[in-house]
Amino acid sequence: MLSIAALCLVVSGGCARLRADNLAAAASYSVALSGYIYPGQVIPGAGVAAIREGYADGPPWRDTSTALTDGRRDGKAVQSWFWSNMTKRITVRFDLRRSARVTSLAVWPLAGSQTDFDRVEAHVSDTEAGLSASAAIPLDVSGGAAYHGPPLTGRYVLLVCESAKPWMSLSEVEITGDPLGAIAAGAPPPGLVPPPVRDPRQLAELPARARGAVDLARKPGVRIAVSAPPTGNNGATAGSPIPAGVARALIGGGHPQTVRSADGFYADKFLILDLDLGGVRQVDRVIVRSAASDPAKRSYFNGYRVSLKSSAGFWEPVGDADNPLLPGESVDGGYSVTSPSIEKPARYVRVRLRCAPQSGDRIEIGGVEVWGRTIAGVVVQASPRPVLKPRISPAQPRGAVASDYDWILRDRIRAMYAMTGDETNGALLDRITQSGFNTVLMHTMGAAHSADGWPRMAQTLAKIQKQHGLRVIVSWPYGSDERYANAQFGEYQPGGKARWTHAPCPLSAPYWNAVVGDRAEIAARAGLTGLVVDVEMYGADATRYPGPCYCDDCWRRFVSARLGGAPAAAKVDLDNRPAWIAENGLEGDYARWQAQGVSDILRGIRKRVAAVAPHFLFGNLLDLEAIPGLAAGFGTPQRPALVFSETEYSGDFSKTSGQIANIRTSALPALYIPGLWVKPITPPQIPDLAARAAGEGAGYWIWSASAFTDGHYPHASGYTNDEYWKAFRDANNALDTRLKH
Ligand SMILES: [Zn+2]
Repeated sequence: MLSIAALCLVVSGGCARLRADNLAAAASYSVALSGYIYPGQVIPGAGVAAIREGYADGPPWRDTSTALTDGRRDGKAVQSWFWSNMTKRITVRFDLRRSARVTSLAVWPLAGSQTDFDRVEAHVSDTEAGLSASAAIPLDVSGGAAYHGPPLTGRYVLLVCESAKPWMSLSEVEITGDPLGAIAAGAPPPGLVPPPVRDPRQLAELPARARGAVDLARKPGVRIAVSAPPTGNNGATAGSPIPAGVARALIGGGHPQTVRSADGFYADKFLILDLDLGGVRQVDRVIVRSAASDPAKRSYFNGYRVSLKSSAGFWEPVGDADNPLLPGESVDGGYSVTSPSIEKPARYVRVRLRCAPQSGDRIEIGGVEVWGRTIAGVVVQASPRPVLKPRISPAQPRGAVASDYDWILRDRIRAMYAMTGDETNGALLDRITQSGFNTVLMHTMGAAHSADGWPRMAQTLAKIQKQHGLRVIVSWPYGSDERYANAQFGEYQPGGKARWTHAPCPLSAPYWNAVVGDRAEIAARAGLTGLVVDVEMYGADATRYPGPCYCDDCWRRFVSARLGGAPAAAKVDLDNRPAWIAENGLEGDYARWQAQGVSDILRGIRKRVAAVAPHFLFGNLLDLEAIPGLAAGFGTPQRPALVFSETEYSGDFSKTSGQIANIRTSALPALYIPGLWVKPITPPQIPDLAARAAGEGAGYWIWSASAFTDGHYPHASGYTNDEYWKAFRDANNALDTRLKH
């Protein structure tokens, strides 16, 4: 990496004056500012909230046309958004106006501004369209940034400067090289190209209405009801009931009426319009008019979903519309947002408007139109709507816990999490015993996952129990097994637009049985104490499931088991399944059905293992019901499942009592054991936290022994291993004393 001084020497022969033959000076260029945002974040400079995650364009940068090429690093400069919470980009696109041989590239922040770049990359291409596909060329970053590798040839140069600092600047760009040929015919004039102007009216332009189509909503006999469901989140205040007269005026096509959703800047907001067209009609499109926009009112909708129904049957979601305007943009007299083309027969039309937190204080709309035609002779095959509610297990009276849990109730679980390899570390195991632990949670990986390796490892672990007086509970990873691929027996799908490729379907009995059942049976036969499933899926698309699985197999089974195989439901494709479930009010049913499916599989594993080792314990790592159905499958009131929680890792117990209350109110057969991580938690804190965990829960566990062996996951700096071991000893002594009284 070059220092800034060396860099100046390389590219310009001295810092005082930049070279005159800078190809950038004769180029045409445009500047774009962007920043990485998350949904709900208010976009700085625009004062509006983001709808989705990613790099969003900032306010356009306008300045004198020579700012980047005036030869000065202390003069005019492009400035990013000023905001501390995002990675910022300044992107400059140069058209050199002719092909050129580029021998070096250099960029500088504003002199003395301390706004150095974190990363700069360049793209060079013969065509503007080829820029994005061309290889990214990283620049050496050191104050400024420079490239001086082999010469590059092209007419277009794209520079992307990135920084996570509160702001960044770009004051000078130098593109050194030799022109190849004359100025291209039709090349733009040199200097800054002004950014394109957004025209909200054009963005919200109505499409042409199909021949013969009318606004069906204005026909006599059409009925409309409007509701603003309370969202119950983040301080939403319920909207007032919407009078029938106001709702009717929305379809009158006359003077716009405004109806309002619940208020609340930080709340999700919805407005539901239910239209009965009076008979089956051909529906082409839905149009929703915004209220006459007054930016001061911050009234806005992000988009809406249209669902159709022909008679008493299921709602069918048929199209989503996104508002093309940003919340801060306005059009005099309001504007319209158009649904995609629908072209389906229906009698009932539902329009569900949504507004994400912070994008508006409320939703206000001016009217709704349903474009389409009256049609004769349409036969609609409406399926009836059979919904079989899933069984709900009665609250289990908590009977006496089995006597083989006596040691847990009497002494509490005091577990050290040990890594693969620690099973033969006699000194470590001795120290664990001497410090008053009674259990080792044993991580598994590598050879232990193979067909021969696991029985051998189980025998080795059984020796720990005999020789060190420790109970061994195996921690087995779900979603990152090294013998069985995650999606080998069926892959998880979240539904909607996303596609997952490497997470197991949670209702795949073959996956659970191969990964967990077979290994647990081998562990049980070897005499180990138990097996808990670590459900943090390191090998998957994400470490947790975002919701129930909507894969084809799950869908087919749900439709068959709960909806009587209704064809209207069976044909719904993966993209539309979550929306379909939500629109038909079946979210709770689907989630419960799936949790019960998971429980059924785990119950089978538990019974199979109990047949060879009736005292074998089951449970999971991560947190309570990290996959819904875990506790009811792995536990019974007499033999509750063990939940080794990671929620308290940092010593924060603010959620613990809520979790334990949840176990009681949901009648989950589970014991809760908070975990403590030695990196954020120091020795002086350990006795109190262990006492708290063992007091509120069924014990505690420490992550992990690695801090005292290879140090791969170290403990807090400033403390010795011995100080930690002494703290464990003190904590366990104190527990002994407390539990005797
Ligand atoms: Zn599935």
